[in-house]
Amino acid sequence: MDIVNINELIGNIELFVNKICGKIKKSDIKELRILKTKCFGKNGIITNFSKSLPQYNVSDRKKFGLQLNKAKKILEDAIVKRIEKSKSVYRDSEPHHEKLSYSKDFCFPFPKGSLHPIIQTIQDIIAIFKSLGFAVVDGPELETDWYNFEALNIPEDHPSRDVQDTFYLNENGIKKLLRTHTSPGQIHIMEKQLPPIKIIVPGRVYRNETSDASHSSIFYQIEGLEISENITFMDLKAVLVEFINRFFMSELNLRFRPSYFQFTEPSAEVDIQCNFCKGKGCKICKNLGWMEVLGCGMVHPNVLKSVNYDFQKYIGYAFGIGVERITMLKHNINDIRLFYENDLRFLKQF
Ligand SMILES: [Zn+2]
Repeated sequence: MDIVNINELIGNIELFVNKICGKIKKSDIKELRILKTKCFGKNGIITNFSKSLPQYNVSDRKKFGLQLNKAKKILEDAIVKRIEKSKSVYRDSEPHHEKLSYSKDFCFPFPKGSLHPIIQTIQDIIAIFKSLGFAVVDGPELETDWYNFEALNIPEDHPSRDVQDTFYLNENGIKKLLRTHTSPGQIHIMEKQLPPIKIIVPGRVYRNETSDASHSSIFYQIEGLEISENITFMDLKAVLVEFINRFFMSELNLRFRPSYFQFTEPSAEVDIQCNFCKGKGCKICKNLGWMEVLGCGMVHPNVLKSVNYDFQKYIGYAFGIGVERITMLKHNINDIRLFYENDLRFLKQF
């Protein structure tokens, strides 16, 4: 869509906001509830505007996104203001409590809760990958050694198998473990079907680690996998560049840095330019000017062999996104523990 249309659209949002704000000022609690649904409900106008966001290019999306956020804030403020006013009218004019209907009148003034930032991020990531043709699949959190390590080319003597890093359990005499990454999801799906495969696996993972500002024993990951014939590193790069630009809603400087993972070869880590110092180097990016966002690579032939795929015929890429990490980068949060403390002062900002 060209720039004239995006401007028209922004004009439409402004007109809508002005019209609704006028109505909010004059409405009673019941009408207010209807207006709120009209704006933010499942088929609300603001909700529908948000849904149309992915069809624009990056700069239009940024412009449109800013305008939408502004509109949301104006509408929410107008609603809160109207509620406050109606409460003071109750207090001033109706001192007799029995005249109030608590269930009807006092439930509504409490602001509606919002999604936890982690859940919001997972939903955003899923929406982007779905639009790129990925299916969403689920995997078990309780795994066997085969799925979590062996099938992913992580041999018995590899340090990540250490009890220091992994929570082992014993289920009816069978040694099990809490998955340390979402990568076993790849194995489950490849065992069930032949390529082409194009999936993401979101979920919780567990590491036997002491919590600090950047580590937690439970956190979220999203695994991605595409297997087919004739896939190259360029396909991986194209998907991840598109994802990062859309997730951060701007075209960031990013780089693919060679790295090492057991289950991919070649492997890379993707860095984005530090948002705080714009690449000059600061405390937050440890003077590197870059911050790591995710790990990726071409699926190791041994992984394909472990699910009896013809590794001469099929090829693919995989990537893993740390949900907390990418949320911290997007919102400039410096301590992972804030996500789990349920401090409303923190959560209300999202
Ligand atoms: Zn920096």
